[in-house]
Amino acid sequence: MTLMIDMDDVMVQGGFIALLNEYMGTNYVESDFKNFYMQDILPDKEAFFKWFKDKNIYEYCHIAPNAKEVIEELSKKYDLYIGTSYIYREIPEECGYILKQKHEFLVKEFPFIKPSQYIFLSNKALLQTDIKIDDRTDNLKNAKRKILFTAYHNEAISDEELEKMGIERAKDWLAIKEMLL
Ligand SMILES: [Mg+2]
Repeated sequence: MTLMIDMDDVMVQGGFIALLNEYMGTNYVESDFKNFYMQDILPDKEAFFKWFKDKNIYEYCHIAPNAKEVIEELSKKYDLYIGTSYIYREIPEECGYILKQKHEFLVKEFPFIKPSQYIFLSNKALLQTDIKIDDRTDNLKNAKRKILFTAYHNEAISDEELEKMGIERAKDWLAIKEMLL
């Protein structure tokens, strides 16, 4: 069975908000945001992304609790792929360097996943797998089993709405373990 796992806000968390706080000198926490695009609070996004391009977001993030252990177990049972987008809508032409940051982080922190299992893409609906785990509902299209990983921007989606879309929710990696292992 093929399984796609998203990287940002699923395997890793907290990188973007840490950078945003460093840039602004603030102490925002994820629950302060309801929308996916945290950068929309910035008065000058262009200046922020100029600064952002010299940073490595993966030096600011942490691995989600229990993600490493559960993903290693999943990799033994499933035909596993990391499906991750690398394009920021504000700087689409300049995002090549993000590929390198993602690649290096995955090699270092998830050595049991081969680089040939990384899929860097934008529109995840084009990818057809048996199971998908992602924090955005749109990214779950084209999977037989759709698992929404809880994140700040999707907490408000009700169980009824998810049921209509044929989506299950997993609040953390221990929930994924229960569902898939
Ligand atoms: Mg994500």
